[in-house]
Amino acid sequence: MRWEGREESSNIEDRRGGGGGFDTGGGMGGGGLGGGGFGLPINLGGGGIGTILVILVISWVLGINPLTLLSGQSIGPGGSQFERQTRTAPPPSGARRDEQTRFVSVVLRDTELRWKQLLPQQAGDLVRTASGKAYEEPRLVLFNGSTRSPCGEASAATGPFYCPGDRKVYIDLAFYDQLKTRFKAPGDFAQAYVIAHEIGHHIQNLIGVLPEFNRRRQQVSEREANRLSVRVELQADCLAGVWAHHAQKERDFIEAGDIEEALNAASRIGDDSIQRTIQGYAVPDSFTHGSSEQRVRWFKTGFESGRMASCDTFRGNI
Ligand SMILES: [Zn+2]
Repeated sequence: MRWEGREESSNIEDRRGGGGGFDTGGGMGGGGLGGGGFGLPINLGGGGIGTILVILVISWVLGINPLTLLSGQSIGPGGSQFERQTRTAPPPSGARRDEQTRFVSVVLRDTELRWKQLLPQQAGDLVRTASGKAYEEPRLVLFNGSTRSPCGEASAATGPFYCPGDRKVYIDLAFYDQLKTRFKAPGDFAQAYVIAHEIGHHIQNLIGVLPEFNRRRQQVSEREANRLSVRVELQADCLAGVWAHHAQKERDFIEAGDIEEALNAASRIGDDSIQRTIQGYAVPDSFTHGSSEQRVRWFKTGFESGRMASCDTFRGNI
C-alpha cells in the first residue's frame, strides 16, 4: 500500500503509554505537566476547605482556572476512573507520531472520506429504512495492554473490536505485531482490512443492522445466535470490500495478490487466538466469523461490486 504522506484522521484516541493516567500532553497551557501530571494524590472526593485550598494553590502555581480542577468533583465515584481514561487530548505538538499511528490514521481517514460519500447514496439499497443515512465518523482508540470500554475491559487478548455503546473501534497495536510476526501477513493491507472490517460494524450500527442483531440474539438459541453472528461478520467483510473498491478506484493503493493472503491471515487469527472477553452486546469478534473461504468470498463480493446492495448476507445461503 502506498499511504505515506496522505491525509490523517483527527478521530484517533491514543490511550497508549499513559498507564491509565492522564495523557494530556497538551491542553494545560504548556506547564511541563508531561506524564502523570495530574495523577496528584489528592482525594477530591473529600471536598473540605483543605482540598479547596490545595486546589487554589495548585491552580495558582500552574496557572490553571481553579474551577477546572474543582469540576472534577462532580464526576463522582466510579465514574472518575473511566472519565480519566477516556479524556482525550491532541498529540503533543511537534512530536513525531510513530509510523503505525500515522498508518492507522491515514486508513481511518480514507474510510471517513469514502463512507461519507457512499452511505447516503447506498444505505437504502441494503436496508430500506436507512435510505439517505448520513455518515457519522466514529473514533478509533489505540491502546496498550488494557483499557475500558462500555463493552467491557479490553485487553491484549481481546483483539480489535467495535463497541456500539460508544461507537468506537478499539485496537491494541500489539495485535498488528502478532499479525506480522506470527502469520507473516503482508502487513499493511492486512492492517487496513482489520480497520475496514471494524468500520463495517460501525456502518451496520448506523443502518440498524447491529441493533436488530443484538435484539434478536437475545430471543434465539445460542446456535441460532452464532449463525446470525456469522452473517453479521460476513457483511462487515463485504462492507470492508466495498470500501476497498472505492479506495482503490480513488487512490490505487492495493497491490495485486494482497487481498487473499491478508484475509486468510486475518481470519486465522480471528478464529484461533483472539479470546472473547467482551461482554454483553459487543460484537463477538473472536469466533463465529465464518470460514476463511466465506470471508474471502464476501470481501471479494463487496470489492468487485463496490455496492452495499451486494452485501445482503441475511438472505439465503452464505
Ligand atoms: Zn467483526
